[in-house]
Amino acid sequence: MINSSCDIIIIGAGIAGLSAGCYAQMNGYRSEIMEMHNLPGGLCTAWKRQGYTFDGCIHYLFGSGKNQPFHSMWEELGAIQGRKFVNHDEFMRVIAPSGQTLIVYTDPDRLEHHLLDFSPQDSKLIKQFCAGIWDFTEFDLSLLQQKPKNLMNWGDWWRLTRKMLPFMGLLTQWGHISAQEFAQRFHNPFLRSAIPHMFAWPSIPMMVGMSLLAYMYNKNAGFPIGASLEFARSLEQRYLQLGGKVHYCAQVERVLVENNQAVGVRLYDNREYFAGRVISACDGRGTIFNLLGGKYLNQKIKKLYDGHLPVHSQLQVSLGVNRDLSQEPHWVTHLLETPILIAGENRYEIGVKHYCFDPSLAPPGKSVMMVMLNTPYDYWQRIYGRSIYNVEQIQESQILIDQLAEFYPGIKADIEYVDVATPLSYERYTGNWQGSSCGWLLTKETMGLMIAGIEKKLPGLDNFYMIGQWLEPGGSVPVVAMSGRNIIQQICHEDQREFVTTVPD
Ligand SMILES: Cc1cc2nc3c(=O)[nH]c(=O)nc-3n(C[C@H](O)[C@H](O)[C@H](O)COP(=O)(O)OP(=O)(O)OC[C@H]3O[C@@H](n4cnc5c(N)ncnc54)[C@H](O)[C@@H]3O)c2cc1C
Repeated sequence: MINSSCDIIIIGAGIAGLSAGCYAQMNGYRSEIMEMHNLPGGLCTAWKRQGYTFDGCIHYLFGSGKNQPFHSMWEELGAIQGRKFVNHDEFMRVIAPSGQTLIVYTDPDRLEHHLLDFSPQDSKLIKQFCAGIWDFTEFDLSLLQQKPKNLMNWGDWWRLTRKMLPFMGLLTQWGHISAQEFAQRFHNPFLRSAIPHMFAWPSIPMMVGMSLLAYMYNKNAGFPIGASLEFARSLEQRYLQLGGKVHYCAQVERVLVENNQAVGVRLYDNREYFAGRVISACDGRGTIFNLLGGKYLNQKIKKLYDGHLPVHSQLQVSLGVNRDLSQEPHWVTHLLETPILIAGENRYEIGVKHYCFDPSLAPPGKSVMMVMLNTPYDYWQRIYGRSIYNVEQIQESQILIDQLAEFYPGIKADIEYVDVATPLSYERYTGNWQGSSCGWLLTKETMGLMIAGIEKKLPGLDNFYMIGQWLEPGGSVPVVAMSGRNIIQQICHEDQREFVTTVPD
């Protein structure tokens, strides 16, 4: 069955796809988005259960602060106008079984005093670290993404180099060391155990965690009131206002190719849509090996997807709780005296978050609570589709709830709703390989890939492009939105059109 034809078909109404759609429309291209789900946002989502809204994504949004990096892009996408953000003074706390508590303040001076109280003998290290955070408050993380690298001329490279030069020492010093490694330089035993968890995952390059604190200090990494799906919906609205069209419940089975040129897509229900260009804004592996049948490959691409790079698969247990937790710290990682066994792995810490800072997410006097853990995808994949999968979800959530009761006495009796999302939930819902929350996890090993960028075209295939979190290692909402912006810039360049942007009223 043949349907309409347009200039650009985009596969996926996640943030990358919606952003590409908006910029396509701004530049006079007629675009249509095919989305397999019945909602926009992809991973940038939230779900409502019994009066509670469980957020599945944004903890911090780069670009939330006026005149700060990424902000003007959000203005163009109509995502930020009139939106309220919560800016936290502390990112999280790490609490040891002894009760010792590391408070990860976003103010570098406050953090320095706090760390020095624990360990005057580590003063040199602490001062270097906090001075580094101050330096990152001046660093523009969007610099590397502002223009597609293949469109940059000598002048652009020169301007970029000039802007980056003052930070080269900083990037070298903090880009090659993970939080786990940094922690081992401390003499103080508590800091040695707490610092690996201060940015949520131990293999995070220090540069990334320090930039995060710096952006939080600048009030440029806030939480959007109303949660992630509301945020994604604002991009969908902007796209529709610009004249774009989203087809929901439209899962693409195949990219249609003629003479090595992408010409359209076929859906699972056999509908076919044709276009001058196709942009895939969904799972990278699925695009290359399923939608295109593995026909357009080279060694580099095969290697990317051979499983050697780290991927972040997550278990999230969300709880609707009949208790007001607003006086509790909003995010705590508890270090455990005795490990608990979750999904076949011993866990020595659990991260717990509540969302009382956004009163729209729970009925008055009640709270949303969340436990998040990284978890092995294989474990869940092995049992998926069997009755044991459901049993396992219940068992693992019970273990975590039992553990929570030690930190929040009596909490079990207050729990009204339990929702479990495994890596298979994320995979089923968004199609992302291994349920990955960010494409490849940002570590020291993948930093180089993030900086260099991944080629957005496939060898031997014309009129076809890829964007989103699998093309921008480390993912994140602003970076994938920039990925969508850049691809339209590239297409305008190919068509010798000036790339234009507009800002809605
Ligand atoms: C728990 C969690 C916490 C996070 N925290 C943050 C944070 O604090 N800050 C931040 O900036 N980022 C955060 N991220 C990362 C961020 O959400 C992602 O990197 C980003 O949203 C990815 O967007 P995307 O458009 O590239 O891909 P996706 O969101 O995966 O979108 C792909 C879309 O394509 C659709 N699709 C897939 N296959 C097909 C097909 N065959 N046909 C049609 N449609 C298809 C999917 O349904 C989906 O809508 C977090 C992610 C998670 C999961």
